Amino acid sequence: MHVALTFDAEHPDRPHSPPGNEERLLDVLAGEQARATFFLQGRWAQAHPETVRRMAEEKYLIGNHSHYHARMRQLTAEGFRTDVLNAERAIIEVSGADPRPWFRLPFGSGHHSRRLARLLTALGYRHVGWDVDAFDWIETRSAREVEDSVVEGTRACGSQAIVLMHAWPETTIRALPHVLRRLRDQGAVFCTVADLPTGPTATAATPNEGPSVDQLMEGRRFDTPIRGDGPPD
Ligand SMILES: [Zn+2]
Repeated sequence: MHVALTFDAEHPDRPHSPPGNEERLLDVLAGEQARATFFLQGRWAQAHPETVRRMAEEKYLIGNHSHYHARMRQLTAEGFRTDVLNAERAIIEVSGADPRPWFRLPFGSGHHSRRLARLLTALGYRHVGWDVDAFDWIETRSAREVEDSVVEGTRACGSQAIVLMHAWPETTIRALPHVLRRLRDQGAVFCTVADLPTGPTATAATPNEGPSVDQLMEGRRFDTPIRGDGPPD
């Protein structure tokens, strides 16, 4: 099966993110010769130019993950365009890589929105969703839980899967070597979203297997809102 591991690289909003985490992630991927896709927040790219240059040099596919990482349905058309283009400019300036046509909406928020899809198309982009969510952004989850979410969720997908992870949680780095080995043992080929045999067809912003966000959150307190989305517009 083809597995597109995707990592959103952005300013962390949770505490389980030691400095240099993204560099360690690149070390793990390089050690296992695994291809992957990075969606970069423009502001994060500006703050970490060396790491972004390394991503480009090591031939990872680079996509656009907005500049301010806002819930983009709340933006006007002009605000939306400005944000996407600011990120694009930052990414090209730092890495030399043009992120088009790959875009990931922050939080997946607005992935059903025809308005946002039209705005993205006009800018030369398409939103890339995911089939499997590692839920690695939840600081109370263990590396083993992250690993199992990815391996079991991917196995349930069949011939291809897009996996959502983040570049900043420490648990992601601890889980990743096991994820790579277990999936390879099951015959996985790691590719970018551009190289998926039937294209990046995932549109779900929620996992198709595994626990729901509500189940994961049960009994736990968080000081930031639960990631989610309203009805389509
Ligand atoms: Zn993000």
